[in-house]
Amino acid sequence: MRRPILRYGEPVLHTPAGPVAGITPEVDQLIDDMIETMHAAPGIGLAAPQVGEPLRVCVIDLSVGKRPSDLLVLVNPVVVELEGMQLYEEGCLSVPGIEASVVRPARLVVEAMDREGQLRRVAGEGLMARALQHELDHLDGRLFVDRLRPVYRKAIAHRIARLRRSGRW
Ligand code: ZN
Repeated sequence: MRRPILRYGEPVLHTPAGPVAGITPEVDQLIDDMIETMHAAPGIGLAAPQVGEPLRVCVIDLSVGKRPSDLLVLVNPVVVELEGMQLYEEGCLSVPGIEASVVRPARLVVEAMDREGQLRRVAGEGLMARALQHELDHLDGRLFVDRLRPVYRKAIAHRIARLRRSGRW
């Protein structure tokens, strides 16, 4: 089932999410819903807080549904290695219409459970490294705009506040 994607300003997006204790039927359903919601958006990644669930689960699919083997489900992910630096334009389904350049590691290794509960290591560079860190940030209650310099962060916050006042957010 597709779920509504929450936007910047919803408290669940700005609060660290809690660990998943196990792959229960509810968590399994949540994962299905997240994959469907991500593909429909369309987007290359989605974290559980974006659909209102304060849990450490995210999904990534750089092919946006074209190659099933690209689909990654990460439960309780943790960064085990990061190196290098890249600067690239980024956006987020929870911050529609706003893009900005974000500094991120160039390479990243993450350890996480898959949806079968098996511990896996995922390594990524370039776009994959950015997607991984972007989604892991969501699990810590951090959006990409929070990584911008204060002057940009404030400008974006003001723009969103204006949109919200006029009922367009
Ligand atoms: Zn996002």
